Amino acid sequence: MSYFRSAIDAMTGYVPGEQPKPGTPIIKLNSNENPYPPSPKAMDVLHNLDGEWLRRYPDPFAREFCNAVSEALGVPTDWIIVGNGSDDVLNILFRACTEGHHRKVVYPMPTYVLYRTLAAMQPAEVVEIPYFADFQLPIDELVAAQGAVTFIASPNSPSGHSVPLDELRELARRIPAILAIDEAYVDFAEYSALALVEEFENVILLRTLSKGYSLAGLRLGFGIANPKLLKGLFKVKDSYNIDAIATAVGAAAMRDQAYKNASAEKVKTSRAKLTVDLKNLGFAVSESHANFVLATSPAGNAEHLYLTLKERDILVRYFRQPGLDDKLRITVGTDEQNRTLIEALDSILQPKSAESTVSKRKIYSRSNSGA
Ligand code: PMP
Repeated sequence: MSYFRSAIDAMTGYVPGEQPKPGTPIIKLNSNENPYPPSPKAMDVLHNLDGEWLRRYPDPFAREFCNAVSEALGVPTDWIIVGNGSDDVLNILFRACTEGHHRKVVYPMPTYVLYRTLAAMQPAEVVEIPYFADFQLPIDELVAAQGAVTFIASPNSPSGHSVPLDELRELARRIPAILAIDEAYVDFAEYSALALVEEFENVILLRTLSKGYSLAGLRLGFGIANPKLLKGLFKVKDSYNIDAIATAVGAAAMRDQAYKNASAEKVKTSRAKLTVDLKNLGFAVSESHANFVLATSPAGNAEHLYLTLKERDILVRYFRQPGLDDKLRITVGTDEQNRTLIEALDSILQPKSAESTVSKRKIYSRSNSGA
């Protein structure tokens, strides 16, 4: 007899991007972290934390953090649920709302791979509907699939595109169940779907401090929705899912919107430059509204590029999946990191010396043979 439920035996676990030890001389462009440090005001709070905060259990509702979100975004505090990263809020949603064939999970593909993993754990049936060409949303198909929860990441990963607001509004109107809009990357985008939460009781918005606020290591995310939708989620969440440090530091980061906005602007400027540089190397790059770009390799299958970059201590994300296997998802780094990446790609794609031409041929034949 297995130690595990059959659903767990049957599933493949989520494989996160590689996380090398801090301090290793690696250019890490694989997990969409922000290349800039967190707000100095947040760091001050961290350095001055009173031991008393740690002696006691944390506030189960992270009210100090909710107050800061409320001030920054203008939403009432009882419309906010806080999680140990937005992955935790996703997990809560799956546990509270999805089950088997009757309460399905629906999303367009490709998107954030964790949705599939969380559904497999429940288990809940998944309906994956491919995006149309140029990432046009298959609205009718999504509605027809009748999910208990329909997930739309906007901006989406790994494509970086934002779904138009009127299309999200149409989905919210036509779906008689929950529409979860995952805005993990919204700080780098032109617009948010926040207004839809007020308009529609069935919409929940998911946000994180991992990207725009440079706090991926803190693990703090939140959902915004009508209290009627949050009610069931609060029953499911762990009592103390947000620790006292995250509550205090996250509140200070949230109150420092000016810092977050300035850091996002730097990333957006670098994103534009990185896009041009990649295009000059022959990559096709779709317009991104996130802190990464999805670049289609001029050499077909991109696994050899991913592996060769890794040999040179540059980590990017490669998905060995149909439709994505000729692409690299590259997090926007500092301008210096991006330059190093571009130089490395240039030398891999266009070796100058006869010796490197040979190695290039070897690499290509390896990838052509399907390795
Ligand atoms: N949603 C999307 C689309 C993501 O890419 C990520 C980050 N991998 C998350 C949610 C989760 O972010 P976190 O748990 O760090 O808040």
